[in-house]
Amino acid sequence: MGDRDRGSWFRAPREMKEAIDALSDGARVLAGGTDLVATMNIRGERPGGVVWIGRLGLERIAADDDLIRIGAGASLATVASDPAIRAGAAALAAAAGKLAGPSVRNLATLGGSLCAAWPRSDVGCAVLALDGVLVATGRGGERLIPMSDLYAGPRRTTITPDEILTEVRIRPAARSSFVKVARRSSFALPVVNAAARLEIGQDGVVAEAVVAVGAGSVPERAPSVEEGLIGRALDPTVAREAASRVLEDVTPADDEHASSWYRSQVAPVAVARAVLAAGGLEATA
Ligand SMILES: Cc1cc2nc3c(=O)[nH]c(=O)nc-3n(C[C@H](O)[C@H](O)[C@H](O)COP(=O)(O)OP(=O)(O)OC[C@H]3O[C@@H](n4cnc5c(N)ncnc54)[C@H](O)[C@@H]3O)c2cc1C
Repeated sequence: MGDRDRGSWFRAPREMKEAIDALSDGARVLAGGTDLVATMNIRGERPGGVVWIGRLGLERIAADDDLIRIGAGASLATVASDPAIRAGAAALAAAAGKLAGPSVRNLATLGGSLCAAWPRSDVGCAVLALDGVLVATGRGGERLIPMSDLYAGPRRTTITPDEILTEVRIRPAARSSFVKVARRSSFALPVVNAAARLEIGQDGVVAEAVVAVGAGSVPERAPSVEEGLIGRALDPTVAREAASRVLEDVTPADDEHASSWYRSQVAPVAVARAVLAAGGLEATA
């Protein structure tokens, strides 16, 4: 009798094709396991099978002047400390470094964190601001998913059950930042988070702005804030004015971590801090 016939089964393939083939009905991808194993233990979820992707060589990070390619299996501890990511995707390095604590960061992977799709995912917010592109590998080969298309809702993504997120691609950005507001500095889910990427001309005027915020049911872009920044010389007043528009773009969630009212007060402050930090005007909070 094969392991598939015995109900719940575990596989640790060394080849991508074998992994994709094993993702038959009901099987789940297992990466660091900090989310999936907790879900299985606490909520009693029993997937038909589990496919551990830790032997597929998905930890690689490669960077040149045009692109940073981060394997989905890279641990958050590695993402936080990698020199190329710190230089060209500072918002992501900061988000990874502020998530949970060292024990979780050593196990949890970038891909697992994106696919777990927590409502205010720290790395999700950062990758959104960095305009990341995700590579999903399935039977038909590779599919590119802009980060803005990843979330189908809280805890749901557009990656199909027979696909594996294999890589995250980010264009290096000189100016990006991430701000997290939580009840504690470690092992606390964000109440609100915000990330910003700016391009500022020689004249000090903002040429391009991408702002993402986690305050609602998924991390979201804040186009009203971006419009309030583009074409203006960045200073604290401009940053705060633009950030005050964030509630035109997001509807703060109400849950056990914070009320929607509290989030509506915190979100503009977090966004202003992220914008100022990206512009090099104030330290990241
Ligand atoms: C104590 C604790 C504190 C936390 N604090 C925070 C926090 O402050 N901020 C925050 O944003 N998050 C937080 N989290 C959530 C954390 O981000 C996730 O648990 C973690 O990143 C998941 O990564 P993993 O590699 O362990 O994924 P797994 O648990 O292995 O997988 C998670 C989900 O993603 C799927 N999956 C994993 N990898 C892939 C892939 N490559 N392709 C397709 N599907 C995949 C799995 O099937 C599963 O559904 C916390 C978690 C814990 C346990």
